[in-house]
Amino acid sequence: MARYTDNSCRICRRENQKLFLKGARCYSDKCALSRRAFGPGQHGQKRKKLSEYGMQLREKQKTKSFYGILESQFKKYFLMATKRKGVSGENLLQILESRFDNVIYRLGFANSRYQARMLVRHGHFEVNGQKVNIPSYLVKVGDIITLKESSKQSQIFKENIAINAKKAMPSWLEADIENYTGKVVSLSSRDEVDLPVEEHLIVELYSK
Ligand code: SF4
Repeated sequence: MARYTDNSCRICRRENQKLFLKGARCYSDKCALSRRAFGPGQHGQKRKKLSEYGMQLREKQKTKSFYGILESQFKKYFLMATKRKGVSGENLLQILESRFDNVIYRLGFANSRYQARMLVRHGHFEVNGQKVNIPSYLVKVGDIITLKESSKQSQIFKENIAINAKKAMPSWLEADIENYTGKVVSLSSRDEVDLPVEEHLIVELYSK
């Protein structure tokens, strides 16, 4: 499956914003954006004023990077969002939040979406008792997510759960961390998506 291969910190530096792509490192003083708060590359220190199109493009790129999605899939999600009732930009964010890798990250089983994607691909999780190893699987209300029995002794989950135990849980998810279980109680609403994005700019870009 295709994925971003660019250095994650370069993406944050290009957007001039922390996108929290590297788990614990993002919260430490090792964060590249804290140490070099300018764009990557030879001309990175010169920040140009963006045109209207440039701003729309950057919002889209930032959102794709945040969720680790490539253009073709992102566009599919946008088309799906326009077919749903309601505001297309908000629908788009709701679809992105419903991705299985994002849910695993939100539940605290992984330290970053990138790690969540890897853990999902390795087949550590079940949805309603069935193994699901597709990061782009879109969860539904009522889905029960569990860590596979054989993965419960894995050090990576013990560490992640210990680190993330105090993390605020969005109200659309319920976690029973001690039993390695989570539940989707509703779909996410816009105010629970902590991404600093102006989604209407993405809608404007794709509507040209
Ligand atoms: Fe972004 Fe995290 Fe790298 Fe900081 S450490 S620049 S937040 S990916």
